[in-house]
Amino acid sequence: MTVLQIALDVPLPRLFDYLPEGEGENFTPGRLVRVPFGQGGKVGVVVAVAADSEHPAGKLKTAAAIPELPALPADWLELCGFCARYYHYPIGQVMAFALPPLLRKGKAPRALKEKVGSGDTVPTANAATPDQRAAIDAIVGATGGGGFRTFLLHGVTGSGKTEVYLQAIERVLAAGGQALMLVPEIALTPQLESRVSARFPGARVVSAHSGVADAARARGFLAALEGRADIVLGTRLSVFMPMPRLGLIVVDEEHDASFKQQEGLRYSARDIAIFRARQRDIPIVLGSATPSLESFHHGTSGRYAKLDLPLRAVAAAMPTVATVDTRKEKLQDGLSARMIAAVSERLQRGEQSLLFLNRRGYAPVLACPACGWISHCRRCAANLVLHLADRRLRCHHCGLEAGIPHACPGCGNLDLQPFGRGTQRLEAKLGELFPEARILRIDRDSADSPKKWHALLAAIHAGAADILIGTQMLAKGHDFPNLTLVGVVGADAALFAADFRAPERLFAQLMQVGGRSGRAQLPGAVLIQTEYPDHPLYRALIDHDYAAFAREQLAEREAAGFPPFAFQALLRAEAPALEDAIAFLTQAVAAAEALAAPEVLLYDPVPMRMARLKNRERAQLLVESRSRPALHAFLDAWMGALHALKTPRELRWHLDVDPQEL
Ligand code: ADP
Ligand code: ZN
Ligand code: ZN
Repeated sequence: MTVLQIALDVPLPRLFDYLPEGEGENFTPGRLVRVPFGQGGKVGVVVAVAADSEHPAGKLKTAAAIPELPALPADWLELCGFCARYYHYPIGQVMAFALPPLLRKGKAPRALKEKVGSGDTVPTANAATPDQRAAIDAIVGATGGGGFRTFLLHGVTGSGKTEVYLQAIERVLAAGGQALMLVPEIALTPQLESRVSARFPGARVVSAHSGVADAARARGFLAALEGRADIVLGTRLSVFMPMPRLGLIVVDEEHDASFKQQEGLRYSARDIAIFRARQRDIPIVLGSATPSLESFHHGTSGRYAKLDLPLRAVAAAMPTVATVDTRKEKLQDGLSARMIAAVSERLQRGEQSLLFLNRRGYAPVLACPACGWISHCRRCAANLVLHLADRRLRCHHCGLEAGIPHACPGCGNLDLQPFGRGTQRLEAKLGELFPEARILRIDRDSADSPKKWHALLAAIHAGAADILIGTQMLAKGHDFPNLTLVGVVGADAALFAADFRAPERLFAQLMQVGGRSGRAQLPGAVLIQTEYPDHPLYRALIDHDYAAFAREQLAEREAAGFPPFAFQALLRAEAPALEDAIAFLTQAVAAAEALAAPEVLLYDPVPMRMARLKNRERAQLLVESRSRPALHAFLDAWMGALHALKTPRELRWHLDVDPQEL
């Protein structure tokens, strides 16, 4: 008897047995099939073919072939299997996630005429600097080949990392290989896509990100799978692109938070990419100006090969970084005299300034000074943010919206006051200070569609703005040649945040946003307003000394027993009532104690920092071990026990392995 073991998109960590409807190669592992399931049907992936089933043959239903879709390769099945085990996520749901939506439905995209490159421009590569050449040679050798090795390419913004990736890719393509380049969500701009396509006019470059339409995504996936695509350039989800001739993986801005998915399959594309490189025995490059402390630690311990690009490739000087001590003066709507003067100087010289404020809206809260009423979200433990541009109050967590009340809902007072400041308020203030300046605000409100976002970028490049006001959206991957001042309006809150990764993120963000300035012929300056000018984080920024910052942070983490010196998983539960969420986690602790895993430490169940979201109360339980194998052995057993627990109907829980946000 031939029994197909099939992965289906259902929340159960197992395969399902079916009999093939007919015979032959349509039912080998990797083939997509259609099967009856429950009241309806589903599309699944054949994972294995067995000789028998634990169910009697008479009970098994049959699977129909989908011959128009090619088989998924064995290494893709293995990759999904690894992901399912490592993240404790149902295998069928991993595969459903990894497949583009059309294929998931068992449909083939309509074929299009193949378009290979533009063929018009053939820009030659810059002659590599000695540091770049050493990096390229180490990564791919002279022949464009090489076995598994993880390289950490550490180089400041503008040091020529992208150039290293492109020249390494060039050698891999010349040797007949395919290359996969992962970039953060926000960095994938037409600018980068065209830089890559223009560099390889004869190659087929496939872009893969959530903005690509379904048919194009499916076509790109099939082109990669059938080996017709030479380069796949995409965000985290492209780590699942099947590529038979894969010869090199690049992860640019490897520290970026967008590589870790925060819902459903909570995978780290960077970590999966390393698994893949090992699986295929090929080199992988992790590049960053501010590597994650995990990667930096592996780079200094020798587990990764560290490659350094200490100098900028073109503009000789790094921007000067200085702090402005805001304890000593009265600010004008959050702006110091020195900041205002610096912007004014740039205006007179016809140069651009960027003011960085990572908070959108006009003000984070609207309040009544008479009775203490504040604009609270009734569904979340959060405030409604005042948006004056469209006169709304809006919750940034759940999307709840309301009009701006004319009078205080508590006491009828007509004089409601905005407290704190966001990008819209900064925009208004700068408009008053510099009425002649052209001001452009770039945040998720002004750039709420890819089209608007690209239009804003184009306007900046065309020199159509003197002052840019932006959130972290603007920090990444864009090169603004006329920008010579970056002003950080306020970032201190992250210095004292509860999450131990907050300083690491702040440092990376400020380094990145600072790197926007002075990239061409003009020297750049970064001004940081702070009440803690002597904080080691700011001192390290002033000295451009990432390594000093990293060493200090790593010493703290080692003392506290945090990653990378320990491995973590987070069990989260949510329910309409907090007691239910905590009760579930308490049961989970009891289940863990029954498993007796001495190398694994369980913390107490606690409400999440923002406990209520969309009317659901959330709590979490942190699990930690100094040994990754011990942690995973424990998780395997624990998950079985948790699935067997009886829970209230409205309770949901999930496990986050290697959580990035606590
Ligand atoms: P990064 O990715 O580290 O930010 P890029 O690769 O984008 O740096 O390089 C920054 C700038 O320097 C780009 O304009 C690039 O064309 C230029 N550049 C990089 N390497 C060289 C080189 N070897 N010779 C001349 N220009 C270079
Ligand atoms: Zn009031
Ligand atoms: Zn809300």
